[in-house]
Amino acid sequence: MLYTSTRGGVGPVNSSTAITRGISSDGGLFVPHEFPQISNDNLLLLKELSYQDVAKKILCKFLSDYTIYEVDKIVNKAYGTNFNNTKIAPLIKLSNDIFVCELWHGPTSAFKDIALQLLPSLMSNSLKKCNIDEKIIILVATSGDTGKAALEGFCDVDKTEVVVYYPKHGVSDIQYLQMATQRGDNTNVIAVEGNFDDTQNGVKKIFKDKELNKNLFDKGYRLSSANSINWGRLLPQIVYYFTSYLAALNVDEIKSKTLLDFVVPTGNFGNILAGYYAKKMGLPIGKLICASNSNKVLYDFMNTGEYNINRNLTKTISPSMDIIISSNFERLLYAASNNDSKFVVNMQTALKNDNCYSVPENIMNIIKSDFQAGWADEDETKKSIKNIWNQYNYLIDPHTAVGFSVLGKIKRSKNKCIVMSTANPYKFASSVLDALTSKKSGNGFKDMQDLIKITSIVPPENLVNLKGKEILHKKKCNKNEMQRALIDIL
Ligand SMILES: *Cc1c(COP(=O)(O)O)cnc(C)c1O
Repeated sequence: MLYTSTRGGVGPVNSSTAITRGISSDGGLFVPHEFPQISNDNLLLLKELSYQDVAKKILCKFLSDYTIYEVDKIVNKAYGTNFNNTKIAPLIKLSNDIFVCELWHGPTSAFKDIALQLLPSLMSNSLKKCNIDEKIIILVATSGDTGKAALEGFCDVDKTEVVVYYPKHGVSDIQYLQMATQRGDNTNVIAVEGNFDDTQNGVKKIFKDKELNKNLFDKGYRLSSANSINWGRLLPQIVYYFTSYLAALNVDEIKSKTLLDFVVPTGNFGNILAGYYAKKMGLPIGKLICASNSNKVLYDFMNTGEYNINRNLTKTISPSMDIIISSNFERLLYAASNNDSKFVVNMQTALKNDNCYSVPENIMNIIKSDFQAGWADEDETKKSIKNIWNQYNYLIDPHTAVGFSVLGKIKRSKNKCIVMSTANPYKFASSVLDALTSKKSGNGFKDMQDLIKITSIVPPENLVNLKGKEILHKKKCNKNEMQRALIDIL
């Protein structure tokens, strides 16, 4: 399998090159040349397989420069006892036609673990295959969850240094503690005075700065990314669309070839894009329902055909979705325009110059045939947490609640539906407690205790153990000083 940049300036390259580079040097994102088809007969053959075995089948199709033995090792290492559920991403039935796929059983209790427990060994292997001897600096811009998941995944991985930038006032206090207490000699955490878009733009600037990159190279460093712009982040996410579909088949909730819809709480468009790729591979998916919080650029786009970032970012109780520029949307534009890199360049240039672009009607129709969109404000999100708890005795976090709220608002197809649950509710204990009781102390740990009293649901160990841990990272910088902060570390 070969990969090309969405902007047409780089490629074809093999998968290990795409993974070690992270972002393409023309500013585009690497995409595979084709989507291997899994026929219905072959899909049925996967029915009895474990999560790990399905992952191996799917990864092998995209990593043609890897041996089966290498993929085997990488997958076994990624999905073991580090997850507190043997199914890795279990499917829960809530009602006759609504299911939840729980993506938060990994070591940091958010869906990012599924990709970031795998990416480090994928990266190490890819470096060897590309004969790269330099130390790799993994640059991460995080709205809260990716940072911790990347730190945990890359902690003490040989020949890597992880540098995480997060918006200082844009993460929950538990997310902050998770990052600030990270152990590991190769881990770095920096608070940026700015919002997530500032942070993400700062990281993109570092990637594009040719002089800086050359200087780093001379010192024996190379930059790469653990954000979902990296193909190695997206690929593992395709797997759980398959396993959750297969789980529904296995309990006879659907028949073979039945279409399922997926609701995906969306920020950078990485999770839902993996679903789109699964559909392109032949998985019977009806609609992919893109759920946004008050930062509803994608919802507005679906209604108007205009992607307009001329707006202020709003801070919400679902901070991992507080994003205005969804990086992975570029990959959708590429696919929906039938791989037209000129079109992608035009759109991205307009975005840079005018803060917006408009997509012609024929391409909008293609996008609308696969996607629906909705959004939920803060009140609706809280109500949704309370409703789902009252109705099903099932506790959800604010991101997942945005998904449920949208599901209740949109015009639904007849298909059964799987809601992607992206974080454990205790990761956002204060907001969840507030939604249930209208009372919160604002202290994450105290609110966690109160939430346990009310719900009797056991919180994950990694969050309980945060209490009293030593703060190891205190660096901060201005949004214009992110490069300086990087140089200071090295
Ligand atoms: C990252 C994240 C999202 C958004 O996922 P994208 O792939 O960026 O669209 C949603 N919910 C949670 C809890 C997350 O951590």
